Amino acid sequence: MLHSAFTPHSKLPDVGTTIFTVISQLAARYQAINLSQGAPNFPCSNDLVRYAHEAMQAGHNQYAPMSGLPALREAIAAKAATLYSQHYDVDDEVTVMASASEALFSAITALVHPGDEVLVFEPAFDSYIPMITLQGATPVVIKLAAPDFAIPWDEVAANITPRTRMLLLNTPHNPTGTVLSATDIAQLTALTNGTDIIILSDEVYEHVVFDGALHHSMSRYPALAARSVVVTSFGKTFHVTGWRVGYCLAPQALMAEIRKVHQFAMFAADTPMQYALARLMAEPAHYLELSAFYQQKRDLLTQALAASPLRLHPSQGSFFMLASFGHLSDESDSAFVQRLIVENGVATIPVSAFYRDGTDQQIIRLSFAKDDATLLAGAERLCRLTA
Ligand code: GLN
Repeated sequence: MLHSAFTPHSKLPDVGTTIFTVISQLAARYQAINLSQGAPNFPCSNDLVRYAHEAMQAGHNQYAPMSGLPALREAIAAKAATLYSQHYDVDDEVTVMASASEALFSAITALVHPGDEVLVFEPAFDSYIPMITLQGATPVVIKLAAPDFAIPWDEVAANITPRTRMLLLNTPHNPTGTVLSATDIAQLTALTNGTDIIILSDEVYEHVVFDGALHHSMSRYPALAARSVVVTSFGKTFHVTGWRVGYCLAPQALMAEIRKVHQFAMFAADTPMQYALARLMAEPAHYLELSAFYQQKRDLLTQALAASPLRLHPSQGSFFMLASFGHLSDESDSAFVQRLIVENGVATIPVSAFYRDGTDQQIIRLSFAKDDATLLAGAERLCRLTA
């Protein structure tokens, strides 16, 4: 350890280490079955690994173009055209990013000014509010409440001011597993019509939507697409969260600003991974079958937990489902999660971590992005909880 006199003036004084790192470390220490992080513990396609290997062997080991490999941008634009009937310009409206996180960060940094307000819904993925705060902007938080976590559109309307620069959405939603409906889209369209509000839409679980529901991407709706930055992730779609490759779609004028940040934050995403992903994108089954793949996992975990005393909330999409335990214990969700790790050997995430003020509804988040044996073993341990 260095002896240093520096105590920097923190830009994020209220922020600690992200909950996903804290819980993953605890899970490792107690060798708990890890149903916490939304990261698969099963392998990605062998072909994808081979494609990356072949790209490296073919010498594709230097910088990719700043905006992304043309073949990959073409594949992304073709997918948006096929699935969402939206025609993004391959050169100017599609950018490959070094993760969806980088896309969100670049978009917020490029488009949000000091003094601006950004509407954000809680529970919120834990990076959103710090990214807004770092710009000197004000997060205007609208709380979604159990059990349905529906967006209170009248409250959204009441919170729109001349300073509202951006509205941050996430569908399917982490951590609640809710998805936006056609009614939500109608409300959103009416509320933003005639304003200059930018929608930043985190759609990293776009291919994980259950029970035949439609993914209401902003890309689907011309009036919304014209004011939206749509962010998504190859990591979530192709089981390679460690590759850190995502992308964003936006109209040219917005994208030009986003690229000004991206070019200096990362310059470009990993080259061999982009070659590999472009080849896998030629096989749409990989993403078209993903909803069914994860629905089976959701159902397996739901059935396996039927004998547990936890009260499960239905999940409509994403890698996650919520469970309430307030009828079992007076503990905070953090204390309950800690006890589940230490005494029951199962790691989950306390939902209070997704609220800036730590709102605790005695709900935990379970990730079912795990192989079936892990889901069954985790559920078996949770079934030993006593009511
Ligand atoms: N998005 C994933 C989750 O919510 C992983 C986040 C992370 O580890 N940074 O669990």
